[in-house]
Amino acid sequence: MKIVIIGNGVAGTFTAQYLRNLDTEADIEIYSSETHSYYTRVKLPEVISEKISIEDLIVFKEDWYDKNQIKQFLDKTITSIHLENKDISIDGFKNPVSYDKLVIATGSLPNIPPIKNASNMVGKGVYTLRNIKDAQSIKRFIDQEDVKNALIIGGGLLGLELANQIKNCGLNTTVVEFFPRLLPRQLDVDCGGLLKDKIESMGIKVVLNASTEEVLIEEDRVKGVRLNGGDFLKAELVLIQAGITPTINLARNSGLEVNRGIIVNDLLETSAKDVYAVGDCIEFKGQIWGIIPACIDQAKIVANSIVGKHSIKYNGTVPKNTLKIMGIDLTSIGIFDLEDKDTIGAGWQILKGMDSKEKCYKKIVLKDNNLKGAILFGENEAISYVTKNIEKSINEAELRKAINLYKWICLSCGAVYDEAIMEVLFKDLPEDWTCPECNAPKKNYKKERFE
Ligand code: FE
Repeated sequence: MKIVIIGNGVAGTFTAQYLRNLDTEADIEIYSSETHSYYTRVKLPEVISEKISIEDLIVFKEDWYDKNQIKQFLDKTITSIHLENKDISIDGFKNPVSYDKLVIATGSLPNIPPIKNASNMVGKGVYTLRNIKDAQSIKRFIDQEDVKNALIIGGGLLGLELANQIKNCGLNTTVVEFFPRLLPRQLDVDCGGLLKDKIESMGIKVVLNASTEEVLIEEDRVKGVRLNGGDFLKAELVLIQAGITPTINLARNSGLEVNRGIIVNDLLETSAKDVYAVGDCIEFKGQIWGIIPACIDQAKIVANSIVGKHSIKYNGTVPKNTLKIMGIDLTSIGIFDLEDKDTIGAGWQILKGMDSKEKCYKKIVLKDNNLKGAILFGENEAISYVTKNIEKSINEAELRKAINLYKWICLSCGAVYDEAIMEVLFKDLPEDWTCPECNAPKKNYKKERFE
């Protein structure tokens, strides 16, 4: 069996790895337009600040491909897929490359919002960051031009990580976010506020509730941006991190069913026989994923699907996001906000604690005693507990210990003070506080003990 994979990002490469584990005989070939072996995109900002080299980005070196007998062809452009003949055409190849099974893992491209002058200034002061070439271009621009002020459009995970490294380059750095809080897709209002304070304390300016209308140019150089309210922000470098769009042209042109992404079923089969798709380029049940855990889940399932093991089916991925900025421990996982407050009581429960002085925040969402999601800021111990127990039935004693929020019981009347529900920690209540039920003094309360 010959399996051809288009794309060597996380989805394509992990598909190859899982396939090799399941089938030691198959011929596996990867074709990619990238010039480097599989590398980790999340660390691209650190290349700009020279914290790491390009070599450090590469996850699998050549010997990994040799050892696993996976053939990789880099810097290749696939021009078409012929579903009838079961082969693909590659720019510069005399003959088409045939396949028994084809996996499309073409990934995604960064969005450029409809900002006046943004598209025509790309490469001349306006940049997106998706691959090694982008990182090198941004670095060269900073080195060669007189850049003092940088602006990052988009206050999501990638935008903030990029802002941090741009700040490390010694530039005045500002993040502009359209939503009223940072990480709008990962955080609630309370934690968004804490994060903003923390980011600003690192010397990065944050502008919320703002959309950029125009990139201002003078003598073909970027001078700044104009926001929707008319405000002007000075910047010689504008970096856009505003989400992704699946790369689907090749699939569409070859006649595969596409919408926003390449349509797949729960075995990650496309509309054509023996053609599969994984990663950022797919649309499953109307949803685009664009996160690494989804790529890895899908790679595992597509590999099983290809070798005929159809018992494991894809059913979506629990989103888990960690902000990778030194000095900030922030993770958001699963369901963290209940849209409708009335659902609390219908089996849903929120445990929450916030320490604005220490800049800590923890929020746990449970349904029928199952851990459904969390936001954890500055809480390392809780992060590892939650990661291990997501979607599982929890032991309350273990959970309470991990999040360090307890129930206190009045020994006189049995009333309960639950720190995970009340705004104030028990120890922070005033000394003259008394039991609201029986007026017993504070010292009459004891921390709940678990057997
Ligand atoms: Fe009491």
